Amino acid sequence: MQILFLGAPGAGKGTQCARLAKHLNLVHLSSGDLLRQAVKAGTPTGVAAKSYMDKGQLVPDEVLIAMFRDKLTQPECDRGFILDGFPRTVVQAEALDQLLEELNKNLTIVVNVQVDQKLLLERITGRRTCTNKDCGATYHVKFVPPKKENVCDQCGQNLTQRSDDNEEVVAQRLAVYDKQTAPLINYYDKSLVLRTIDGDGEVEEIFADILKTIKVLA
Ligand code: AMP
Repeated sequence: MQILFLGAPGAGKGTQCARLAKHLNLVHLSSGDLLRQAVKAGTPTGVAAKSYMDKGQLVPDEVLIAMFRDKLTQPECDRGFILDGFPRTVVQAEALDQLLEELNKNLTIVVNVQVDQKLLLERITGRRTCTNKDCGATYHVKFVPPKKENVCDQCGQNLTQRSDDNEEVVAQRLAVYDKQTAPLINYYDKSLVLRTIDGDGEVEEIFADILKTIKVLA
């Protein structure tokens, strides 16, 4: 299966994609995670991406297209994958179409996770992640608080907030989503594999909804 998730920052794509990847034993390719790893490792991609990410702007299309071409042509993607955060522009979507054609694959389903705009800002600015990269548990100061403030329930390490999850950068990321990424809903609607899921609810409920939707199409 080749699954693509669409949704604004804070819609909960990352959480749902990670669960689904485990459940279906598929590779989870998160563009944001891949870029953050590249920044941390100081690779040329990371160096090129950092200033855009800090400002909440999109990293140039060619950087993402090259990164995903490299990933999707690896043998580990042969049995399927979940795309989370790529594509984010029509140019990237067209490049993905071309790449899939070369690989003789298509998208099984595009899941659009819809959340009320007003909720997104609160969701993102409250997000916290465990600093232990082998744990990576995620929390929310209001919706999923840890038992002890700023300490991971699972491994006891400190929690951290992503540097681009502050209010000013988030406002920019949401504006960028509206302008450059939301048009992809229309783009994929034409291909008849787009399904919209209500992303405002409990993680478990939303996951059950996603599984149901995928089964209908698979
Ligand atoms: P995310 O973790 O998905 O919210 O992504 C964090 C940041 O990485 C975004 O604000 C962008 O700067 C950059 N980014 C992630 N995916 C893409 C993409 N497909 N195209 C361009 N920039 C991206």
